[in-house]
Amino acid sequence: MFKKILIANRGEIALRVQRACREMGIASVAVHSTADADAMHVRLADESVCIGPPAARDSYLNIPAILSAAAITGADAIHPGYGFLSENASFAEIVEAHGIAFIGPTAQHITMMGDKIAAKDAMRRLGVPLVPGSDGALATLAEAAEVAERIGYPVLIKAAAGGGGRGMKVAQTAGELAEAWQVARTESKAAFGNDAVYMEKYLDKPRHIEMQIMADSYGAVVHFGERDCSLQRRHQKLLEEAGSPALTAAQRDALGETVTTALKGLGYRNAGTLEFLYQDNQFAFIEMNTRLQVEHPVTEMVCNVDLVREQIRIAAGEPLGYDQSAVKFSGHAIEVRVTAEDPDTFIPNPGLITTFHPPGGLGVRVDSALYGGYRVPPYYDSMIAKLIVHAPDRAQAIARMRRAIDEFAVIGVKTTLPLHRRILDDPTFQSGEYTIHWLEKFVAGEA
Ligand code: ADP
Repeated sequence: MFKKILIANRGEIALRVQRACREMGIASVAVHSTADADAMHVRLADESVCIGPPAARDSYLNIPAILSAAAITGADAIHPGYGFLSENASFAEIVEAHGIAFIGPTAQHITMMGDKIAAKDAMRRLGVPLVPGSDGALATLAEAAEVAERIGYPVLIKAAAGGGGRGMKVAQTAGELAEAWQVARTESKAAFGNDAVYMEKYLDKPRHIEMQIMADSYGAVVHFGERDCSLQRRHQKLLEEAGSPALTAAQRDALGETVTTALKGLGYRNAGTLEFLYQDNQFAFIEMNTRLQVEHPVTEMVCNVDLVREQIRIAAGEPLGYDQSAVKFSGHAIEVRVTAEDPDTFIPNPGLITTFHPPGGLGVRVDSALYGGYRVPPYYDSMIAKLIVHAPDRAQAIARMRRAIDEFAVIGVKTTLPLHRRILDDPTFQSGEYTIHWLEKFVAGEA
């Protein structure tokens, strides 16, 4: 087992990984920018190293500085968390070339899944159903028009290198195609340095349902069920549930069988998530994330598993040690992402936290690096806490989340807690019958 793990991240996820390390008797090294010298992930780590100025490209994305920090502290593994370098294949490769274990999949699989066209190709070959669309990258607008005619409008132009909902444009009709094509390519070039795009049928009422898997280095793969992440704004998740209110246990088992078979075929290792759109009783793969996800706690709660511990064990060469029959699902979990933003306009609102009082009680979990007196810096993602509840069923989970939100005091900055409270109160949310398009209408006051 590893003796010391460097965590190449900040905020709640750095703490999350640290917690697993501590319980496993592994020392942790925090890295931080100058803006994060007082951050909780630095305060609680066994050791910490400053790796650069506030801008992420100079610190949390600074590969030479992170490798130097690993070298001087003698870390034998690096956990990348999510975001930052977590899906950077050359980082994974460089880390391993230095004799340090990368806690994640191989660089080859990161590269494959980072290119959504290659990912869809691989999944097609492995028998996973896909959203209808182009058979690969589209070279010209004329080619795009041909595919759109074949699959039928509305269509979605998507960036091959896309992420975070960027580089994605809808064309409702043929008249909108040229502009969507142009905007998606320009946005993709600006955000990812790559203007390769492809096309999918734009589904009008899907749910976003994803499967969590874990694979060891010896061919064993299990799934930990699904998460429903249909509550999105601008293609970004705000609230997640496990399990999905729309799936039966039999549907979960069937989808689980499809994904574990595919990943065995791929020779994949460590944690991964396959994302699907689900509409009219059909699943269609959209992408795979080769890392731990923000919403992993809802899975941990219903499966009673520590996914970070599993990642670390697998990266250290341990076998999974159990099979699918050992994975049990119990109750229902909900997570809300709390950001330091105005709950109506979503304008970021960084600043000084004067009071921080997290909720507690049975079935309540708060993953956050906040503390009273902490100043939320303006340089990074605005998520400041994840509030997770677990209860015997969905109705009780909703009741628990409502009371937990009411207890949660974050004073000093505006947060999205009031928005979450409104969502939890809404009859459509409570019915469980929502699609990926519902929240956008709800925040616009149209739902
Ligand atoms: P990203 O990597 O940028 O997150 P994804 O491919 O995962 O992009 O898609 C993000 C979200 O965009 C999905 O969860 C879904 O809400 C929406 N989306 C993606 N593809 C489609 C599609 N073909 N039809 C309708 N909505 C889609």
